[in-house]
Amino acid sequence: MATTPLPLSPQTAHPVYVIGAGPGGLAVAAALRARGVRAVVLEKSDAVGASWRAHYDRLRLHTTRRLSALPGLRIPRSSGRWVARADVVRYLEKYAEKHELEIVTGVEVFRVERAGADWVLHATGGRRLTGRAVVVATGYNHTPRLPDWPGRDAYKGRLDHARTYRNPEPYTGKDVLVVGIGNTGAEIAADLADGGAARVRLAVRTVPHIVKRTTAGWPAQRSGILVRRLPTGLVDRLGALAARVGTPDLSAYGLPRPDKGLATRQREGAIPVQDVGLIDAVRAGKVEIVAAVEGFEDGEVVLADGTRITPDAVIAATGYRRALEPLVGHLDVLDGRGHPVVQGARCPREAPGLYFTGFTNPISGMFRELAIDAEKIARRIAR
Ligand SMILES: Cc1cc2nc3c(=O)[nH]c(=O)nc-3n(C[C@H](O)[C@H](O)[C@H](O)COP(=O)(O)OP(=O)(O)OC[C@H]3O[C@@H](n4cnc5c(N)ncnc54)[C@H](O)[C@@H]3O)c2cc1C
Repeated sequence: MATTPLPLSPQTAHPVYVIGAGPGGLAVAAALRARGVRAVVLEKSDAVGASWRAHYDRLRLHTTRRLSALPGLRIPRSSGRWVARADVVRYLEKYAEKHELEIVTGVEVFRVERAGADWVLHATGGRRLTGRAVVVATGYNHTPRLPDWPGRDAYKGRLDHARTYRNPEPYTGKDVLVVGIGNTGAEIAADLADGGAARVRLAVRTVPHIVKRTTAGWPAQRSGILVRRLPTGLVDRLGALAARVGTPDLSAYGLPRPDKGLATRQREGAIPVQDVGLIDAVRAGKVEIVAAVEGFEDGEVVLADGTRITPDAVIAATGYRRALEPLVGHLDVLDGRGHPVVQGARCPREAPGLYFTGFTNPISGMFRELAIDAEKIARRIAR
């Protein structure tokens, strides 16, 4: 394999490599730099914050400005309490600049391998880069997941993943089916309803917990932080109480209260949906709840209750895969779901010097956890 090493001066050889220049990777690099450890961030796209550049226009952080800042730089007050997507991108750019981070864009890492006490990264252009440690920060929402629905490949109608959704404009006057009621599906459905789609249906397999972003000024994120370490059963009961007080009963619209408690669902990997317009849209009949998608047949979408519908467009808000297998799957560091067996400051037993950040989905807010993990990882590496 041809090699094109990055220009490293001898005294700074064997840096720590951080894969991914999203908030997770940038935070680790800044925390390392603050401890005098050289970190090089490798980013496959052409700029930092690639995920945030690609998200839909109306997106705002649903975690507060204060609780979403990364180590060593506040998010400016002018961004408001709920920071807009474009301001998140500007913040990440500023963050890299302020901390003078060493970032190489246009470099994708394909595979990470052990080389004695070091690590070798195989990257774009035949590069082989040797690092003393590696931090994988390639993102929880890495590769769009489109269920393998029967008839999907033969379906001739418009079928997109939510990753490509930017705004409602292309759907003006159209009949749209959004599949999946996670935070993304719920917000896209509300966005379409506000933005002129003729009809919006939202296909739901498992009814989620829906929480208000704030209640009397108190952000849901703060509750998430407070209850994070409490027993699951207790949080389930508190969640049910809070829902009865704070969230209207939407049973009549096809969204009964969930059978399983909020913390139980979270342990299964489903965080609650923060309401940024869905409740009002459902109550106003602007978003109709329908059964889950079972498959496609004869140009129709077949739903779990046997209904067949023919929307103009289907938007699958069906989540993402971590897609870590090609990168580190051979190192025996992933569990059955393809998630790292350990993360944060802990390395897998078989892989000392290999760190992972950003592969959980906590109710306390991912930016906040990325910031906490960055400090822990940097402290461990610098030791
Ligand atoms: C729609 C949406 C809204 C969210 N809202 C919030 C919120 O309000 N608050 C909150 O706390 N969290 C939120 N999150 C969750 C989380 O904070 C973000 O997803 C955040 O961007 C995660 O940061 P990250 O650095 O782990 O991953 P990413 O931001 O996805 O960054 C990963 C980077 O790695 C690069 N990369 C990937 N593979 C490679 C490779 N092999 N080689 C080189 N580069 C690579 C990518 O190009 C990307 O730039 C949201 C997530 C989504 C999807």
